[in-house]
Amino acid sequence: MNDKINSSKSIEWIHCNNCLIKTKHVGIIQKEVTGINIVGRSEGYSKDGISVNWSKIHTLFECCGCETVTLRTRHWSSNWGEETMDEFFPPPISRTIPAWHITQLSGFNPMKAKKL
Ligand SMILES: [Zn+2]
Repeated sequence: MNDKINSSKSIEWIHCNNCLIKTKHVGIIQKEVTGINIVGRSEGYSKDGISVNWSKIHTLFECCGCETVTLRTRHWSSNWGEETMDEFFPPPISRTIPAWHITQLSGFNPMKAKKL
């Protein structure tokens, strides 16, 4: 497994949970982790096993409009060809939490909640 950390200055259009639309984001920092898994040996498909390359690229993005920060992990496996899978934290939302919901939770103490 290899780790590589870069300062990232890439610009990408991704969803912002504060602006609630796709906005320009600048990559602040990026960490790439790569590795090789040997599969198929125990299943008997191949005597030496089949090597599968994989990578995870973690990029911290900042919205150019409101400066909200989002983490994207881009997964890739040699099994997938050119395809990648993106995962965002926090997950993208399309609506904000309504004010009445926050008001209801403000007096809630989970430590005093009764178990059912
Ligand atoms: Zn934003």
